[in-house]
Amino acid sequence: ERMRDIDTVVVDKTGTLTLGHPALTDFVAEGIPENEALALVAGVEQLSEHPIGLAIVEGAKARGLTPQPAGAFDAVNGLGVQADIDGKRVLVGSRNFLAQRGVETQRWEARAEAWRAEAKTVVFFAVDGIAAGIAAVADPIKESTRDAIAALKRSGVRIVMLTGDSKRTADAVARQLGIDEALAEVLPEDKAGHVKRLQATGRKVAMAGDGINDAPALAQADVGIAMGTGTDVAMESAGVTLVKGDLRGIARAAVLSRATMRNIRQNLAFAFGYNALGIPVAAGVLYPVFGLLLSPVFAGAAMALSSVSVVTNALRLNRVRL
Ligand code: ADP
Ligand code: MG
Repeated sequence: ERMRDIDTVVVDKTGTLTLGHPALTDFVAEGIPENEALALVAGVEQLSEHPIGLAIVEGAKARGLTPQPAGAFDAVNGLGVQADIDGKRVLVGSRNFLAQRGVETQRWEARAEAWRAEAKTVVFFAVDGIAAGIAAVADPIKESTRDAIAALKRSGVRIVMLTGDSKRTADAVARQLGIDEALAEVLPEDKAGHVKRLQATGRKVAMAGDGINDAPALAQADVGIAMGTGTDVAMESAGVTLVKGDLRGIARAAVLSRATMRNIRQNLAFAFGYNALGIPVAAGVLYPVFGLLLSPVFAGAAMALSSVSVVTNALRLNRVRL
């Protein structure tokens, strides 16, 4: 029911919009042979559960490389991963992740920007404090996404994308999809805060997510939409579950809820109309001038007809095109 008032839909880039299965597309290293570097990076990522990690491990294996055994692994949500390999400290993650650990990444920036402009996600890696290269992964956009966004925009809804990825990549994805606004480099714990900020500007916000790190944002939204490929946490914090994890469902839910509310208003108007006419007649307003009184038989029939018309109108909801 609250879906009707929604004027903003916030989506998470991974899992909702994209297939959630990125692949390694580019890799460069300096100071270490490229294959050796990729085996190191894959060594750290094999201990990660992030889709970026899976993409890098698969990419390394596809090149016939074996990920190096790694220890002392640590993952920082929304930023990156680190581990020790052969006594060397290897960091893999966003520019901010490396910067926070005192690693200078400037010399890789120009190339990173070029890849980001192609809507790729770029991660940096460092070995013993020196930025040694970058990797790019690309996550194909779901076929259904473009249609879903077009349908939502036609119904007057503003679409905002939230992502932990860089601004340039987020803007490139947003441009490809016709998304109105992209909020980038958002840490998982800040997602709910962004939803709150949109609400503070008077917007009614629906948030679609997979619950992997957006459950608080789903709960904060006016309508939380758990995408069906997501987690149980997502479904528990959300008001609506789209079983197929397909954004087109949001457009359908919006159309259905608007049609339902329109129908309810029509029915109230019907019922009010009948009563506004019937009750005064039954009470005798027409009697002094026309000598007319409503016989109880007709009054009863009118009551029944009123219910029939309301139910018939409600049944038209079956024919709403979703
Ligand atoms: P989103 O959910 O928006 O895709 P995340 O919050 O999961 O983004 O991650 C944000 C950024 O953190 C990634 O774009 C990447 O730069 C970095 N990152 C997170 N996990 C990893 C990882 N396992 N390996 C490399 N980089 C990572
Ligand atoms: Mg994520």
